[in-house]
Amino acid sequence: MMQTFDVAVLGGGPAGLSGAVSLARSRRSVVVVDAGSPRNAPSAAVHGFLSRDGIAPLELAEIGRTEVKRYGGLVLPAKVVAARADGNRFVVSLDDGESITARRLLVTTGVTDELPEVPGIAERWGRDVVHCPHCHGWELRDQPVGVLATHTEWAVRQALMFRQLTSEVTFFQHTAPALSEQQAAQLSAWGIAVVSGPVDAVQVADDRIAGLRLADGTTVACSVVVVAPRLVANSGVLADLGLEPTAHPMGVGEFIAADPTGKTSTPGVWVAGNVTDIMAQVTASASGGAAAAAAIHGDLIAEDTKLTMRVLSQDFWDERYSADKQVWSGDPNPHLVATAADLSPGTALDLGCGEGADAIWLAARGWQVTGVDLSQAALDRAAQHAAEAGVQVNWRQGDVAGWDPAPERFDLVSVQYVHLPRTVLDPLLRRLAAAVRPGGTLLVVGHHPADLEIPTLRRPRLPHLMFRAEEIAAVLDPAAWDIDATAPERGATDPEGQPITLTDAVLRAVRR
Ligand SMILES: Cc1cc2nc3c(=O)[nH]c(=O)nc-3n(C[C@H](O)[C@H](O)[C@H](O)COP(=O)(O)OP(=O)(O)OC[C@H]3O[C@@H](n4cnc5c(N)ncnc54)[C@H](O)[C@@H]3O)c2cc1C
Repeated sequence: MMQTFDVAVLGGGPAGLSGAVSLARSRRSVVVVDAGSPRNAPSAAVHGFLSRDGIAPLELAEIGRTEVKRYGGLVLPAKVVAARADGNRFVVSLDDGESITARRLLVTTGVTDELPEVPGIAERWGRDVVHCPHCHGWELRDQPVGVLATHTEWAVRQALMFRQLTSEVTFFQHTAPALSEQQAAQLSAWGIAVVSGPVDAVQVADDRIAGLRLADGTTVACSVVVVAPRLVANSGVLADLGLEPTAHPMGVGEFIAADPTGKTSTPGVWVAGNVTDIMAQVTASASGGAAAAAAIHGDLIAEDTKLTMRVLSQDFWDERYSADKQVWSGDPNPHLVATAADLSPGTALDLGCGEGADAIWLAARGWQVTGVDLSQAALDRAAQHAAEAGVQVNWRQGDVAGWDPAPERFDLVSVQYVHLPRTVLDPLLRRLAAAVRPGGTLLVVGHHPADLEIPTLRRPRLPHLMFRAEEIAAVLDPAAWDIDATAPERGATDPEGQPITLTDAVLRAVRR
């Protein structure tokens, strides 16, 4: 998968799908990877979900996937086998051999219900072996209920809650620690019988539960069995991200700890739904997904705002040039070479000249060049290179974004890979255009938004600073200019040395 997504959502149940819809609606690129087995799949219907009461769990998931896709999200039916951090992004490996990269992870893989190991329990799970009075109680009301205790506190709570739905509740002590005096009194107060001794099997007749058979061979009648599964977060994929499950305070399972927005202790990783809130029902899980989505969206905005402000500052460029002996190749930019090779030398302005390769190449061909840059560190290096090459260039330090060449005029104005917000770039290009003499050339080159699709490119991902040549051409009066707006491709290598194809935005305009 070539693209680096803003967010990869691991798990496509109510939490993941709800988060993905929110993110996609905020124009975040989002992919949901889902193994396709939501926790409530064994159940015929979802209850307690306002406006969707009685819907089949898999139908609900299908509606959710359709909504994600409606807003441009991608849903991949696959299992995540590993996830790891790689610099400022995450790499997620799938069981089909594919991998995806994303800036943030929303993990919504749910829990596994570890059921009591009594023959017959697993087979009937979600039908007449249940755990939750809110999910199934109404449908099973007025039937004889047996509570199979494995966790005393939880089983007592379940017995009292189901007693609200039926007058016949039996508490099977099974393997649970003994009842306290108070718990025994609470059950007794509601007329709930307590049966001691381990349960051996669920007795079934005509595909209905007939009762629970005890180790001593006796069977106690009931048609519904209530269990308290151990709820274990499906968090294996989080291990390589440094996230281990925490024991639930009630001792009913384990979950991944997070703040109220789902933010974990690993930067960039959020969790929502049952994986972090093991007691959450469908609406609470969906709500957790939406809350995490809002937090992730805000986090991405904060990061991009900070990065944008940094790349527009002199400090950023001074640090960048000071950190390395040489930042750029030292060769002139190919689009400048292609444009200027056949021009007669005159006066040229190289705005954003960096280490000066373009300006020096022009000067060596007889041009009278002014090179402007925000970074004094870059200009010092440029001056040194010019001296080595034996050419004269007029180097000037200043705010490139606010540069106004007036009253000077030039035969060639070149702006190579200067990326600014359009509210700044457009007025700058108008000022630069005004400084081009009749017959002169304005050459503007930038990174095309198509480069955002290359996952291994380590440039700052700031789509709002990238442009297409035809977009910026709109600043020029077509009656006064011959305009050529193109998007040529060129070969390059990524930081791992692999060949990639870059796309440039190239505006060449000649004043009539
Ligand atoms: C039998 C039963 C009946 C229930 N009935 C109701 C009810 O009527 N009403 C109600 O409100 N709640 C009900 N619940 C609770 C409900 O199931 C949960 O609240 C809800 O499923 C939690 O949503 P989730 O998105 O967190 O997890 P899930 O719905 O479990 O979704 C997790 C998804 O992640 C996927 N996944 C897991 N690991 C990976 C991986 N490594 N790679 C890719 N995908 C992965 C799974 O396949 C699954 O699709 C019931 C629960 C059970 C057990």
